[in-house]
Amino acid sequence: MAVAVQPLRPENLTTNPYEVIPASIYDIVEESPLIRTLRLRPAKPIRFHTGQFIELTIPGIGEGPFTPSSSHFISDVMDVTIMKTGFVTEYVHRARIDDIVGLRGPFGSRYPIEKFAGKDLVILGGGCGLAPLRSLFTTLLHEVDKYKSITFFAGAKSPRDCIYKDEVTEWRKFANVRFLRAVDVVPPGEEWHEDVGVVTVLLKKLDIDPADNPAVVCGPPIMMKYGTLDLLKYGYKEENIYLSMEKKMYCGFGQCRHCVMGQYYACKDGPVFNYAQIKDEEDIWE
Ligand SMILES: Cc1cc2nc3c(=O)[nH]c(=O)nc-3n(C[C@H](O)[C@H](O)[C@H](O)COP(=O)(O)OP(=O)(O)OC[C@H]3O[C@@H](n4cnc5c(N)ncnc54)[C@H](O)[C@@H]3O)c2cc1C
Repeated sequence: MAVAVQPLRPENLTTNPYEVIPASIYDIVEESPLIRTLRLRPAKPIRFHTGQFIELTIPGIGEGPFTPSSSHFISDVMDVTIMKTGFVTEYVHRARIDDIVGLRGPFGSRYPIEKFAGKDLVILGGGCGLAPLRSLFTTLLHEVDKYKSITFFAGAKSPRDCIYKDEVTEWRKFANVRFLRAVDVVPPGEEWHEDVGVVTVLLKKLDIDPADNPAVVCGPPIMMKYGTLDLLKYGYKEENIYLSMEKKMYCGFGQCRHCVMGQYYACKDGPVFNYAQIKDEEDIWE
């Protein structure tokens, strides 16, 4: 299929996409053996909408796309939760408090939170896919009464791989919030009193009318695929299932073409799409 080449339009950008804003690391949370949250204080506030991403630079090493994991109501500091997977993220995991990193952006589409008002929202995620979902969730918690209910299903490989452990108790205190977790396995010696199985097993506990309610999914491609298929089977509408697509990308704003998905660029048309938009594009789960 021919790919529509869409020129960069300055009016679509709220910031200079090449400007790198220095940010100091004021805290680091070791979430799990492979995942840490950098708590950053940028030299100037960075306003973003939940679901958008930034390019984070380790000076002299390289940069990569990451979604802020903090609420979009906070712009003077930003959390970014990063899994060690390769070259740049290896350096992210060597960073220390007071080190300086660079931030470009924000880029891309956002979660349409205005459509979630008055609804029963389901959030389904696993692994480092919980990073953008924590941003969404904490953004919604700012005005939690706007939403009828929020059910958050979170998965991890094992208890020690669970992230945001210290926040779960607080999150469970909201009357209209349900936060349920499942781990794939419980290795000998690890303690766990919640569900066991891939995160989609938690969908069996859904007691929501799917007719007009939204669901948001983010995680490893295999989880996104089966999570989406299960939600469709349950009765969710394609246009009400929102996905964050993590394709390989470099520039972040539609110039380098590394993240082309059929007629879309994951960076500037996404990363947030509804399933109806992208279901017919090739290889969306890869
Ligand atoms: C919009 C967006 C938001 C993201 N948000 C987060 C986040 O909040 N936290 C987080 O930990 N990661 C996030 N990622 C993935 C992250 O960008 C990559 O893991 C990171 O750039 C890898 O860099 P590296 O140099 O360490 O890995 P490399 O050495 O380049 O590669 C290591 C491995 O990671 C894979 N990889 C590299 N880039 C990507 C990518 N963009 N998506 C998926 N796999 C990739 C490679 O195929 C390879 O298998 C996001 C990606 C996108 C596109």
